[in-house]
Amino acid sequence: MLELVILLSLYQTLSGQAEAKGRSPYFGCLAPILWLTCEVLGAVAVTVALVLTGHGAENHLVIYGGGIAGGVVGGILAWIMVQRLPPAAVTCPSCDATIGGLLSGDGGASRCESCGADFETRGGEVSRRDGGA
Ligand SMILES: [Zn+2]
Repeated sequence: MLELVILLSLYQTLSGQAEAKGRSPYFGCLAPILWLTCEVLGAVAVTVALVLTGHGAENHLVIYGGGIAGGVVGGILAWIMVQRLPPAAVTCPSCDATIGGLLSGDGGASRCESCGADFETRGGEVSRRDGGA
């Protein structure tokens, strides 16, 4: 139960961060996907390790612990991936030059190095700051 709450909040956090970079909020899905995948892998790895070391697979608490540890690793991986995600490239609404991407999300301001126009993002839309064409 606690795991589900953490996973949901991680999903929402990563979705928001991806969206702020002009990327799809579906990047937040990396959290549950990697968490659950690594959780299964962690549980399997611990089970295999227990059997290979002659302890048998009866200690379910240890296996569960391995699963949780794997899930946390998966969550951290998802976090790192979204942090390293570069902002989406933006096309200057004034001169159509491609600009490397906005540094911040909603309300973020940037300047086109090609024509010097100031613009901002609002709700994923890029517009001239002075209201020009
Ligand atoms: Zn421009």
